[in-house]
Amino acid sequence: MEKNMAKDLNAGELEQFYNYISDASEDGFKYVNYVTNKVIVSNKYKEFFGVDQLNIASDGKMFEKVFDEDKKYVLANIRKAINEKLNSYELEYRIDNGRKWISHTGTVRYDENGNVLEKLSFFKDVTEIKEKQLELERMAYYDNDTGAYNRNYFVKRLQKAIDKIPNSHNIVQVLYIDIDNYNIINDIYGFSYGDEVICKFAKIINEFTSHTVKVGRFNNDEFAMALFDAESDDSAIELYKEIIARLEKPITLTNGREVYISISVGIAKYCDEMQNATDMIRCADIAMFNVKQNGKNNVLIYENCMMNKFVKNVQLEHELKSAVENLEFILNYQPQFYSNQKFLRGVEALLRWQLKDGKFVSPAEFIPMAEKNGTIVSIGTWVIKKALEDFAEFKEKYSYDGMISINISAIQLKEKNFSGILKYYTEYYNLDPEKIEIEITESVLIEDSESTINLLKSLRDFGFKISLDDFGTGYSSLSYLRDIPINTLKIDKSFVDTMLEDESTSIITDAVIKMVKKLGLETIAEGVETEEQFEYLMRMNCDNIQGYLLGRPMPKEELVKIILEENKSKLERSIYG
Ligand code: C2E
Ligand code: CA
Ligand code: CA
Repeated sequence: MEKNMAKDLNAGELEQFYNYISDASEDGFKYVNYVTNKVIVSNKYKEFFGVDQLNIASDGKMFEKVFDEDKKYVLANIRKAINEKLNSYELEYRIDNGRKWISHTGTVRYDENGNVLEKLSFFKDVTEIKEKQLELERMAYYDNDTGAYNRNYFVKRLQKAIDKIPNSHNIVQVLYIDIDNYNIINDIYGFSYGDEVICKFAKIINEFTSHTVKVGRFNNDEFAMALFDAESDDSAIELYKEIIARLEKPITLTNGREVYISISVGIAKYCDEMQNATDMIRCADIAMFNVKQNGKNNVLIYENCMMNKFVKNVQLEHELKSAVENLEFILNYQPQFYSNQKFLRGVEALLRWQLKDGKFVSPAEFIPMAEKNGTIVSIGTWVIKKALEDFAEFKEKYSYDGMISINISAIQLKEKNFSGILKYYTEYYNLDPEKIEIEITESVLIEDSESTINLLKSLRDFGFKISLDDFGTGYSSLSYLRDIPINTLKIDKSFVDTMLEDESTSIITDAVIKMVKKLGLETIAEGVETEEQFEYLMRMNCDNIQGYLLGRPMPKEELVKIILEENKSKLERSIYG
């Protein structure tokens, strides 16, 4: 038999010796001698585990105090140490129903057959240290405001799941989620309520978390969800549908207001061409970007072609910034005719961006981009200046006395200087504001409609004409037409396209024209391409016609020819009369 640790002491002396040490220490200890069946514990041990003097038979009593969630771990690790004949082991677990953290180190001696001879264990209260450590972990892994994983940790967890794929054939999917129009929510309700919307939304998606579904916060209003072991290829889409169903109910803010939100979601399913977690998230993000570009509030699954489109877009955006600096824009003009006699009513200035290789980029493509990155303000200012400069030339050189219509983006209109700039160039070129018409869309009225209406009123009081563009798309509602200060209503091409075939469109178009006239507004039908459409609109008493049938958007020089022809026929009319 091997020698005892405290070989020269008898049992009584030994106990005294241990008590002496333990009283001097903040830690608890327990000594068990399996040969003599002696168990010695310190007072602190008794306090920790709520037991009195123990004997071998009741040695296991301490386990009763161990927190239920940690019991398995404690037993398994002690068993493992004994089975592997380790001389020492270290454990950390909770007691007192999880309230206290204990650091436990054990030292074990065995005989030559591997039987345990004696065991000495120390127990330390590490609650404070452990809580700090957990707090640090929380900070390292979780987003403070929403309790979702932070970006770093989300990526790490996703990578772990991806690494397992070759062996487990797991299906791994990612949803990239962005709250639609979050900046508008912020503008309308204020930042603190905007934050609340994010937290409440996070709560909703956090409810879907499980062992295999995790949520991460990526940016302000951007989240990602990962499915680590999805049941099928459709799991991500199913999850999307469940979230959408949940969002049919409004989010209630602490001030009692109810906010409905919609989300744009991109989905990426892991496949070989994605190198890692970051790649996968980028693909889901790109799919989400495509949703945004196609009108938001939807879901798309990532496809290869999206990447090409995305890269092209980034490139284009880069080029747009330099185009603004180098003024690579030109203006075209499209004529608008009175429908009764086909005489020129006015011209609409339409912006063109010419790339260095001579190709044109459609404004439908670059205006939304310019609105997003803010360059629309300087582009729009250039449009005003150039259009008014040309207009002055038409007037002075060619005696043009029609209107000029200029498209104004909602973002441009919100700029403090907008009205000042418009008035400045009007006066600088000595123009009559009555002949200048700004075209706005209904989107300007979504945000802060009161101050927008006041601005429009002041512009109209100054003499400018205001035209509501694209009527019939978006939020179109006849009821607000009487509240907003407009002079002209442009009926969208989509009406003109379908009114001949579709009876209800024809009825609506007819009703809109009649009502608008009663309100004293002028009407212009856009995108008129055929004689049939023209005649139909004339019968409906639509005042003006704009479209390829009577004139495409054209460079300034060509428009001058039309103006000169118009002058000639006016002259003939006055002579022959
Ligand atoms: P919009 O203001 O509704 O302009 C009418 C668009 O319809 C123009 O497209 C015009 O070329 C096109 N169009 C006119 N007649 C016909 C027709 O008979 N058939 C067809 N298929 N199309 C016709 P464009 O020039 O590509 O402009 C697209 C949009 O870009 C404009 O729509 C406007 O929203 C925006 N935009 C153009 N110039 C400016 C600008 O200077 N400032 C701002 N903020 N937006 C502009
Ligand atoms: Ca327009
Ligand atoms: Ca339009």
